[in-house]
Amino acid sequence: MSVTDQAFVTLATDDVYCRGALVLGQSLRNHTTSRKLAVLITPGVSSGMRSVLRSVFDEVIEVDALDSADSVRLALLQRPELGVTFTKLHCWTLTHYSKCVFMDADTLVLCNVDELFDREEFSAAPDSGWPDCFNSGVFVFRPSLKTYNLLLQFAAEHGSFDGGDQGLLNSFFSNWATADIGKHLPFIYNLSSSAVYTYVPAFNHFGRDAKVVHFLGATKPWNYKYNLQTKRVMHDGTTSGSFHQLSFLALWWNIYSASILPLLENLQKTERSE
Ligand code: UDP
Ligand code: MN
Repeated sequence: MSVTDQAFVTLATDDVYCRGALVLGQSLRNHTTSRKLAVLITPGVSSGMRSVLRSVFDEVIEVDALDSADSVRLALLQRPELGVTFTKLHCWTLTHYSKCVFMDADTLVLCNVDELFDREEFSAAPDSGWPDCFNSGVFVFRPSLKTYNLLLQFAAEHGSFDGGDQGLLNSFFSNWATADIGKHLPFIYNLSSSAVYTYVPAFNHFGRDAKVVHFLGATKPWNYKYNLQTKRVMHDGTTSGSFHQLSFLALWWNIYSASILPLLENLQKTERSE
């Protein structure tokens, strides 16, 4: 049964983040989601990459952070660090869907997670760095132009305490921590790969139930080197490579090399023969 008015949504502002978005999209397909897949992109994404995105996602939607001269947006433009924040907020404009799950391009699903659509706006999992805040890498929301405009207005008036979308969204949905436990997603829906080594006993106990891995932080899976022959992720020993972290990285690279790399190689062939 396919549900056409609900979607998983991600964001990629350049060709590098697109690699993450493609692996996420493919992981959702591999686990036979019944929901639509949508990706928000900005003009910086190449036309070749767009065609690859279209083979994994149902919808590739270009959004432009500079498309208007209204006062709220101009106020935002004076805060360049909010650029990406602004772009993520565009997900509220997808009003042809009644409910969506936003997932960062650096996340990966390990099983079918369609039950997330049983949750209401605004549902998210605690952030491992400050658990009274939610992590904005995975959240359930309802597209609405009213909410979108309120978010823009809030961003212009208050900015974001961390300069990113997470600070802004936490201030906006400020009763998340206390109002409704039903809006707290279990941590296994947004397992940050770093939490794996900050609380090893908990990971050993609960980690087998992980449903979504989030490669949060500066070093993303695509920054590692991968040996296509041995199917191993190469790390230099300094990259806090616990066994589990490396196995999540290996999983990311398995999907990338098996399903995404062939699409990108095909694209290169077509581009060369043109
Ligand atoms: N993002 C993007 N381009 C950028 C930075 C971020 O498209 O240059 C999007 C992408 O979907 C990414 C999300 O914004 O997953 C949040 O950024 P990131 O995952 O790098 O932050 P972290 O989870 O490490 O805090
Ligand atoms: Mn992320």
